[in-house]
Amino acid sequence: MKKSLLIKPFMDEIYPKAVKGSGIYLYDEDGNKYIDGSSGAVTASIGHGNKEIIHAMLEQAKKVSFVYRSQFTTEPAEELACKLNNLVDADEPYWSFLVNSGSEATETAMKMAIQHWQEQGFDKKNKILSRWISYHGITIGALSMSGHVYRRARFAPLLDECPAVSAPYCFRCPFNLNYPTCGLFCASELETAINRVGSERIAAFIAEPIVGAAGGVIVPPEGYYQKIKEICEKNNILFIADEVMTGMGRTGKMFAMEHWNVKPDLIVLGKGISSGYSPLAATLASKKVMDPILSGSKSVMSGHTFSANPQSAATALAVIHYIERMKLIDHSCKNGSYLIEKLKNMAKNNPIIGDVRGKGLMIGVEFVDPLTKEPFPTVEQMTTRVIKKAREKGLILYPANAGKDGLVGDAVIIAPPLIIKKKE
Ligand code: PLP
Repeated sequence: MKKSLLIKPFMDEIYPKAVKGSGIYLYDEDGNKYIDGSSGAVTASIGHGNKEIIHAMLEQAKKVSFVYRSQFTTEPAEELACKLNNLVDADEPYWSFLVNSGSEATETAMKMAIQHWQEQGFDKKNKILSRWISYHGITIGALSMSGHVYRRARFAPLLDECPAVSAPYCFRCPFNLNYPTCGLFCASELETAINRVGSERIAAFIAEPIVGAAGGVIVPPEGYYQKIKEICEKNNILFIADEVMTGMGRTGKMFAMEHWNVKPDLIVLGKGISSGYSPLAATLASKKVMDPILSGSKSVMSGHTFSANPQSAATALAVIHYIERMKLIDHSCKNGSYLIEKLKNMAKNNPIIGDVRGKGLMIGVEFVDPLTKEPFPTVEQMTTRVIKKAREKGLILYPANAGKDGLVGDAVIIAPPLIIKKKE
């Protein structure tokens, strides 16, 4: 066999070569069949090999696959922006900036928030507050907002921002409090941080509605986001919802923030928006964010060669239509509840499962000593062992743990394609 020159996540591991995908299944070159139990990295929401999407991609390729964003616009990009605005269902319009990855999209949100204030003469409002236990992407700007100790460590000197508050992690509350008597202390911590830094220096607060990769699906308690939004508004700070993992039906609503009826100023989408058929992500900016830019410089200071790519836009449109037509958000809600119930039953009296949590088909299983809540020793991380064993048995799972910081335990994310059936 030829020596591989492809850089993979772990160079000492042997990866099966995928040759086919169909529905919730992936197949490798040796004929092994796997259930894609995590939709890759919570991405392949409508499953693999969908003929409708392939058809839409082909039809767009026959028309035009690439134009540069400062020279042309295209029908699929325009239509996608309108569609996303309709999905947000707000009184005021949301504009779309189309990019290629979640990291680019969160970084675009960061830049747009800063520009929003600059256009009004508030040049000092340029800090972004975020939370420990979070992941907003791997580019330097996105990583600087991310509360992921392990992924930050090597690049720490380059990271300007640093998370300021804790995630609402009730299973192991950082303040040793209990909900609801805690009075949502973790949300109040945002106000304390704002007072410490000074609201005149802060552009925005960013949060994943439900923490994904960094914490193994941390669902906030009721009232948390309402309080966060109130604090942001009171202090003149924009609220960015990073829905890269949670958006597009994954949690049983089109956008996870709908669970709490909160409208963010900026919404970031990725992963499930194109279900992985073509790279696409989007930053949605409300009228409030856009107005000063539209009446000021009239140009958002960001962009990539592949931004608003027509091929990707056509793909995402086809994916969204499929999600709607097949009622996959309903599926996510019902089958997610069913799966959570089954997993909770499995967790009873189980010596390694501390917690099962989630919304829709975004489910986290945390492996800790159920009595002490202590993570297992790093040398034999439970996540790694469980993932390996599951793969041997034909089930792919996604690891979630910030690791090495003592803040979180071991966890896996179970997030199969939203098309999964009960018996599957
Ligand atoms: N934001 C969230 C919430 C994510 O989960 C991720 C990826 O896991 C990102 C941003 C970064 O997205 P990408 O890997 O597409 O750059």
